[in-house]
Amino acid sequence: MSTNPENECARVPQVSRRGFLAAGATAASSAALGLALPRASVAAGQAAADEPISPGFFASQFYDNREEEALLDVVETGSPFRFWGPTVPKKVKTFEEKYAEYMGAKYALAVTSGTAALDCAVVALEVGPGDEVIVPAYTWWSDYTCVVHAGALPVFADIDRSLCLDPEDFARRITPRTKAVIPVHLLGGPCDMEPIMETARKKGIAVLEDAAQCVGGSYHGKKLGTIGDVGIYSFQLNKMISSGEGGALVTDQPLIYERAARFHSMGPLRRIFRERLGGQSQADTFAGENFRMSEFTGAVLGAQLPKLNTMIAGLRRAADAARDGIKDLPGIRLRKRPDPQGDLGYAVYFELENKAARDRCIGELRKRKIPAGTLSGSVLLPIHESVMGKQTRHPRWPSFTSPEGRAIKYGPDSCRQTLGIFDRFVQVRMGPKYTEQMTDRIVAAIREVYPMVT
Ligand SMILES: *Cc1c(COP(=O)(O)O)cnc(C)c1O
Repeated sequence: MSTNPENECARVPQVSRRGFLAAGATAASSAALGLALPRASVAAGQAAADEPISPGFFASQFYDNREEEALLDVVETGSPFRFWGPTVPKKVKTFEEKYAEYMGAKYALAVTSGTAALDCAVVALEVGPGDEVIVPAYTWWSDYTCVVHAGALPVFADIDRSLCLDPEDFARRITPRTKAVIPVHLLGGPCDMEPIMETARKKGIAVLEDAAQCVGGSYHGKKLGTIGDVGIYSFQLNKMISSGEGGALVTDQPLIYERAARFHSMGPLRRIFRERLGGQSQADTFAGENFRMSEFTGAVLGAQLPKLNTMIAGLRRAADAARDGIKDLPGIRLRKRPDPQGDLGYAVYFELENKAARDRCIGELRKRKIPAGTLSGSVLLPIHESVMGKQTRHPRWPSFTSPEGRAIKYGPDSCRQTLGIFDRFVQVRMGPKYTEQMTDRIVAAIREVYPMVT
């Protein structure tokens, strides 16, 4: 606690405000704080028989007084910065420790976003100009931009019916310059990590798992992000637990952790990281960035993490019910799941004959107010204008000035399998608070529509 009398004065109204909160006058005090707290959970749980079913944003359905209390702690102590302040800040530090424990990793580093975590991971793996990094053709921008930021060359590999990196196409895209691969656990489902790890280890390629869309998922009993050399996560609103923005990186390797920790905070090694590394330093200071997480963000994530398993259980319950209800449909081709036990149940997926059938199916399901759509939340990167044009922040940026960089051709011919899969799959979203009545409606609608489109 602070000994500064000015701070003591400043704390008085905040303490009483917290008392007010505890007394149960949440709405009034939230209004006084200027906090809008839409309890989306209520709406999501109570869709009437003919109302649209919506998964909502997962994290905010679970916001309650635990997030409020944690945020107020930071306000009251006046210590929003993770390394120092009027009191000893602990929110981000504690979150890192709990997160590492939850994932079963030696080290965790909290950062400002999943994108920042990818930048740190790529730097930690010493990826740079002249290196190639294999990235799935359908994923979020950051898996591409982190490679370009490092001055390395992104090489795309197709996804397969798991909607994640095709292990065989990954093997085909390897060259003597391949330094790393980014298996992305997309749309709540794990990549088939066994063949990916086998190929990578045989060829001496580093593995950076992107679990931004699969926080808490697992593969063969190991949490996603802890199978390769380094794993990253996002806490943006569209992911699982969320603080609006935020990200993390985990690893078991001291040198990777040290380089990531240095890069995320200008270059020097802060005491807390040196201590976690047992006082051992293996790397010199180099020019870094500022991707430090604030205590406000750490406060919310600290309150969210204990709710993650509940969120996942809700999603899995809904997805299991939906899949069980449609699995006997003649010839139905569900998404390939490399480890059904580790899948989050973000949505239920099935493949139709072609794009026309898919579009008709989505249209019919939407008429029935079912949250159906194409695969979502990512980009078909190799056919995006700026990627095909190899646009960078500077014309002499090293990614595309090497002979390989000049020669590489992106565009539709580089990812035909991915484009086909994207065109044929239907996605039906699940919510962590879906009721049985809602999954029953989803099953009934798919059973009604499926014969019309096959
Ligand atoms: C969201 C996302 C990211 C980036 O996370 P941000 O926190 O939004 O920067 C990276 N990879 C994948 C697969 C994502 O879905």
